[in-house]
Amino acid sequence: MAQPFETIEVTSHTVACDGGDGPLGHPRVFLEIPEDTHKVVCPYCSRTYMLVDEGEDDQAA
Ligand SMILES: [Zn+2]
Repeated sequence: MAQPFETIEVTSHTVACDGGDGPLGHPRVFLEIPEDTHKVVCPYCSRTYMLVDEGEDDQAA
């Protein structure tokens, strides 16, 4: 079954995408995730990268 849009959860504002193996593969590009939307779509393979909060910076001082 084809999944046209894959969503990948990341914890970094900068992600590298190469489309993986198969027909969606493309030269590696770096994508910046905006603070306001918390997600970015790769212009090559249409994968969605979603920023998730890992919580490691959320500890009280
Ligand atoms: Zn891609």
